[in-house]
Amino acid sequence: MEYQNQYQDAPETKYECLLFDVDDTLYSQSSGLSKQCTKNIEEYMIEKLGMEESSASELNMVLYRNYGTSMAGLKAIGYEFDNDDYHSYVHGRLPYENLKPDPVLRNLLLSMPIRKVIFSNADKVHVAKVLKKLGLEDCFEGIVNFESLNPENTSNSDDGHEPKDLLCRSGSNTEIVAGDSQLLKTPILCKPFEDAFEQAFNIANINPQKTLFFDDSTRNIETGKNMGLHTVLVGKSHRTNGADYALESIHNIREALPELFCTDHKRSKSIKYSEKVAIETSVRA
Ligand SMILES: [Mg+2]
Repeated sequence: MEYQNQYQDAPETKYECLLFDVDDTLYSQSSGLSKQCTKNIEEYMIEKLGMEESSASELNMVLYRNYGTSMAGLKAIGYEFDNDDYHSYVHGRLPYENLKPDPVLRNLLLSMPIRKVIFSNADKVHVAKVLKKLGLEDCFEGIVNFESLNPENTSNSDDGHEPKDLLCRSGSNTEIVAGDSQLLKTPILCKPFEDAFEQAFNIANINPQKTLFFDDSTRNIETGKNMGLHTVLVGKSHRTNGADYALESIHNIREALPELFCTDHKRSKSIKYSEKVAIETSVRA
């Protein structure tokens, strides 16, 4: 089959773009950033949105699970707040000092002669800070972040309703009320929803069939796969639904995908993986 049009170079190259999540993908979860971020979000819910301490943690978990980010969930259930204020509160006190320059990853990234793009739900200040701390700020051609996914800066709410509480207390228990079991609409565009992927593809001019997507979130990987991307689950030793590869660490990328480092595609086919490295891959002909 002839391959025409904008993908002019190297018709034999399987991938023409590498798409990377940032948090817990380009650095290890053990940095403690995610954990602190969760704490900060819960504190924001209590301090700024007036929620009860007893319910903030569980509600945060439910919203995160259902909406991809806590912010998207909070907006969906009707809370109104300034996006920048939220981001500076939850990211402003993260232990960024735990992130150290990663020359190994930098070298790996620069050794792959394929365009690289960031796709993160986080805001641009946070993404820039993380990349700078890791010493990777010049390794990517473009960045898709919260602001690019939500350019109109979402003044929330069509109707100005009071926030709806997804938790109802019976006795000392909190119980999730699913309501009509349909998710409320959120004005925030973010992974893992398909429209966020579509937007990212448009913004960064990405052909998903020729793109390899790296993310630590199993549900992002699942949607990514449904959207036509090739997928690498990072931070896990086993593949989950929709993951073509699993890497315990992004540092294992060369062992799992040697063809990314090789401009001669035919030659790369003969390279075998090392069994010793903690990776899992699907069999590829
Ligand atoms: Mg992540």
